[in-house]
Amino acid sequence: MESLETMYQNIGIDKKVLELGTEVEASLRDRFEKIDRTAEYNQLKVLHAMQKNRVAEAHFSGSTGYGYNDLGRETLEAVYADVFHAEAALVRPQITCGTHALNVALAANLRPGDELLSPVGKPYDTLEEVIGIRESKGSLKEFGITYAQADLKPDGSFDFEAIEGRLNDRTKLATIQRSKGYASRPTLSVSRIGELISFLKEKKPDIICMVDNCYGEFSEETEPTEVGADMCVGSLIKNPGGGLAPCGGYIVGKEACIEQAAYRLSSPGLGKEVGASLGLNQTLFQGFFLAPTVTAGAIKGAIFAASVYERLGFPVYPSSDTARHDIIQAVDLGSPEALKAFCLGIQAAAPVDSFVTPEPWPMPGYDSDVIMAAGAFIQGSSIELSADGPLKPPYTVFFQGGLTYCHAKTGILFSVQKMLDKNVISF
Ligand SMILES: *Cc1c(COP(=O)(O)O)cnc(C)c1O
Repeated sequence: MESLETMYQNIGIDKKVLELGTEVEASLRDRFEKIDRTAEYNQLKVLHAMQKNRVAEAHFSGSTGYGYNDLGRETLEAVYADVFHAEAALVRPQITCGTHALNVALAANLRPGDELLSPVGKPYDTLEEVIGIRESKGSLKEFGITYAQADLKPDGSFDFEAIEGRLNDRTKLATIQRSKGYASRPTLSVSRIGELISFLKEKKPDIICMVDNCYGEFSEETEPTEVGADMCVGSLIKNPGGGLAPCGGYIVGKEACIEQAAYRLSSPGLGKEVGASLGLNQTLFQGFFLAPTVTAGAIKGAIFAASVYERLGFPVYPSSDTARHDIIQAVDLGSPEALKAFCLGIQAAAPVDSFVTPEPWPMPGYDSDVIMAAGAFIQGSSIELSADGPLKPPYTVFFQGGLTYCHAKTGILFSVQKMLDKNVISF
């Protein structure tokens, strides 16, 4: 049998890179243990919900056509609702992605003349077109729904005075993004989200609070629906799909909000009753069952990346000792060569398309070229190991995912290896 060191060498990682990784890993033992505890807690939460709802083999057969009386689909939604401590859920492969889920939740619960408020600054890029911050066909703006925003203070705290100033008679819904996404602000913890929701509801008791939960699920032991959120929304090709869901999105929360969302997703008069599960039920159940440990692996990978790159002298966000509320890690690499080498390493570590070289390209909607590395089983899945960044100073790479911690670790070691090979770092 070959040693672990030889196994790493066979795949292309030098002894000194592995040694750096081993040293870093040893320093993270306590943090990793805490993350494993969170995973254990969340595993029990999901398991209990599955047992309580009496998940059975019969739920794995799919429906076709209209999808009436799809017991598996209904049970999956009951399981999601229980895990999120919510009244109801919509979990559907017909929700194409996170942006779609957010659009459905917003468009379903807003009416012409209403105003949408973001009390946490600029929302995720794709939401700009949903809302109409950037002109777009079919935006909320086209339907006479206006938008107001209160930015976070420079230190990342809530600007309560500005938020109160933006509230008015027409304010119907507040959209709160949990993860920093690809912005530079800190990610919000569930307890901070709770604080914000309490403030909003105190000032305006009938306001609907929606949380964009993308990348945040299972990073803590509670979800925003437990601290007053009326809706939580996310993508199944991120954390809650556990890497198995081939597509889909979810909206969980208050019965009244979910009912509106269902009528918007399908049609007035039809709502939740339609939507064939097409044989995906078993995969969505199994992915959700795995999601707590898959998310924990991705978070450990992010902390490992932060710690490795801190040691190599790069600015990292968040720092390796910061508490985590999502799976994203950013590193300022400082040069286009370093960014390209990093992405080459992530690509080389992939189980799929490991032999291709990621190249920067002018992606629509971006003001500079963007480079992306991903070799995923599910197209675009960012719970799988992936990295991307715009080719402009400070040449920040955003790294996320890894279906297992071992794979995330290998990806990071590969990125270091490629940076050594290209002479952008030395040690
Ligand atoms: C990924 C993401 C979205 C959009 O999801 P897509 O599946 O890419 O459409 C929205 N908000 C946040 C915070 C995200 O991370």
